[in-house]
Amino acid sequence: MKKNLLKRTLALALTLMAVLSFVTIPSSAADVHDILFDWQYYYVANPDVARAFGRNPSALRNHYNNHGKAEGRAPSEFFDPKVYVGLYPDLRAAFGTNYKAAYNHFVSCGINEGRQGSAKFSVSVYKANYADLRRAFGNDNLAYFNHYKQYGKNEGRSAVKPITSAPAKQQTVTVTVKPNASSNSSESFWQSPLKSYKITQSFGKSGHLGVDMKSDNTAVYAAASGTVVATGLNGTGTNASSTKSPKGNGYYVVIKHTFNNKTVYSMYGHLAANSIKVKAGDEVTKTTQIGTMGNTGRSTGPHLHFAIADTKKNGSYYGYMEDGKDFTAASRKETRSGVTFYNPIAAINNGTLG
Ligand SMILES: [Zn+2]
Repeated sequence: MKKNLLKRTLALALTLMAVLSFVTIPSSAADVHDILFDWQYYYVANPDVARAFGRNPSALRNHYNNHGKAEGRAPSEFFDPKVYVGLYPDLRAAFGTNYKAAYNHFVSCGINEGRQGSAKFSVSVYKANYADLRRAFGNDNLAYFNHYKQYGKNEGRSAVKPITSAPAKQQTVTVTVKPNASSNSSESFWQSPLKSYKITQSFGKSGHLGVDMKSDNTAVYAAASGTVVATGLNGTGTNASSTKSPKGNGYYVVIKHTFNNKTVYSMYGHLAANSIKVKAGDEVTKTTQIGTMGNTGRSTGPHLHFAIADTKKNGSYYGYMEDGKDFTAASRKETRSGVTFYNPIAAINNGTLG
């Protein structure tokens, strides 16, 4: 009897071991939805939601689950449904603008298939780039996401290669202009307010009413000749990406221009504190420095918010539309709440508005 029991116990143990060897123990027990949602990313990427809920992680997550998912918002740098659907013809055909379904596909299939979910992270690239991670995680694709989130990003690991097939992808361009050149009639009416710039947020993206430009040359010039009509501080000053100042131009200048017999206004936001060199009533030309690029108002890093509109707005906020919705990629102007904003880059490059 005892021998039999031992035998049976041994057999059972062997069976258990055999079963266990086939069970894949995930290297991360974290839930896929937890990994894919990053409240800080969501907060920064969705100013309208940020205004409504502030830095409340659970409220932001609820917003994403109840609204953002279907609206096609990106929950983190790992997933952007518009990029995801744009990259894969089969998904485009299957889901179109059903972004909730696209998210579900990514969770249930895309991740395992090694598909790229956003412009910022490709699990296949991340996997291919690092042998140490392959040794650690094998084919557990979700573990690579988790690793990137917890360590890889901070370690500066590369998780993406340029996407060429994504439609209407935002471009970072660097151009050099000469704001100090003398004005004459053969020149374009509009110039870049920065001597050289990179675009960090384009016109229309998430309801963006201007263009965000960044440069090592921080002097900000009038974009065209005109009259200064307003300067001041909107929002609570510096470093106002916190909930204390959910919106604000920071230090700003508004200049009135007559362009093609029409009155339009150029606006410059987030200027450095106390850098404004002009006051209302001053006549300016393209060679007039009006201030210095800064990080005041609702801004998460030094840049210039440059906008052109048909309404003065007296310095009230002109950064983003409340609804946070993209304008169409090709749009050169957008009218909301009775105010028309023009694409400043189109003005600089083409010399026209709209
Ligand atoms: Zn901006």
